[in-house]
Amino acid sequence: MVEEVNPFESLQSQIDAAGAHLDITNDVLERLKYPERVLETNLTVTLDDGSLGRFQAFRSQFNGDRGPYKGGIRYHPNVSREEIIALSGWMVYKCATVGIPYGGGKGGIVIDPDEYSEAELESITRAYAVELRPFVGEDKDIPAPDVNTGQREMNWIKDTYETLENTTEPGVITGKAPGSGGSAGRVEATGRSTMLVTREAFEYLDIPIDGTTAAVQGYGNAGSVSAQLLEELGVDVVAVSDSSGAVYNPDGLDTTAAKGHKRETRGLTGFEGATEELTNEEMLTLDVDVLVPAALENAIDEALAKEVSADLLVEAANGPLTPAADAVLADRGVHVFPDILANAGGVTVSYFEWVQNRQRFAWTESRVNEELERVIVDAFDALTETYETTDVDTFRTAAYVVAIQRVADSFEESGTFP
Ligand code: NAD
Repeated sequence: MVEEVNPFESLQSQIDAAGAHLDITNDVLERLKYPERVLETNLTVTLDDGSLGRFQAFRSQFNGDRGPYKGGIRYHPNVSREEIIALSGWMVYKCATVGIPYGGGKGGIVIDPDEYSEAELESITRAYAVELRPFVGEDKDIPAPDVNTGQREMNWIKDTYETLENTTEPGVITGKAPGSGGSAGRVEATGRSTMLVTREAFEYLDIPIDGTTAAVQGYGNAGSVSAQLLEELGVDVVAVSDSSGAVYNPDGLDTTAAKGHKRETRGLTGFEGATEELTNEEMLTLDVDVLVPAALENAIDEALAKEVSADLLVEAANGPLTPAADAVLADRGVHVFPDILANAGGVTVSYFEWVQNRQRFAWTESRVNEELERVIVDAFDALTETYETTDVDTFRTAAYVVAIQRVADSFEESGTFP
């Protein structure tokens, strides 16, 4: 059983670890460890059978020093106030790591969406949008998709907001369908940054891509696209998993066929292209070159970290390592390329979507992908430069050093008011 860790405490320990290498006062660092405000609400919605459902929901606005709050909306039974706060904090440092002009926010509803009809999910999402309305806006707070939400939910939220405000403001939310103002390349963006960071990491560590192997945990948006783009890059993706289990083929899986199988059967198990099925633990400890956790927080704890055999980890998920697991991997010399860089493609293309919405001008997919590559490669270079020129001992701490300094600079330049 994976150890219970409060993700908000993980975030704060990551900030503290970086603080030791930064020339900022403790007062400023303390301020950067807590959210500015958190909305907690209970949504009341009429369900299909006529009964009333109650759904606890949150929106955390962690820090707005560098721009409007930005971050996804998660639908999951385990959503909690502390999880949403942590995720909103990671957004602040993610946006700062890649240098886009946003603060950080996150939202969530405590719900298992599989238990509700589409009509019920629409009513729940619109009820949530009504609660969010005073707090969001294209210059205030811009939500986006996260676990179990996607274009459909973003379109409902945009429509609810615009109807109530009697306006058109597509930039109030990102991750929309193309017809509603979504950007080309947004669906693939998170997996694309994971692939780009893996590519840059291989080059930085002098590992030729040919013949390398990867295992990917989680086969939703982030995981499946990461796997497909790694395969395209020339990496053999030998194992992938989802909540149904893990599938393995030592010669490499056809990641697109695996995605098709999951779409049809709602799970990866039983995929014909696999030679073996593994448990989640077996998959996470496979001897591969790169392990990509792309499911949920705290997937790898201290005990599991001792068994990890991969040479490097590229975090597509947010917070997939417990702090103790992170320390074990650092001690063992396993390089971890952190979430706030590796999955930043999602928010970066969300930023491009917002820019396009404000310009009322759509970019081509190749322009989106080129701009994304530039942002991620520049951020990778800033991180490795900090890693080499300071006494930090992990790439994660290097990323936090870059990011916290940027947020602290904005705060100190603006001063305190009121
Ligand atoms: P998703 O709902 O599309 O996919 C989640 C996947 O994880 C599913 O395949 C699910 O079966 C699998 N999963 C859940 N528990 C598992 C377990 N114990 N073992 C193996 N697999 C398990 O969600 P997503 O949008 O791909 O998000 C995944 C992670 O990536 C989250 O941490 C999210 O915050 C992060 N992320 C997503 C985006 C984005 O744009 N979608 C951007 C940045 C970060």
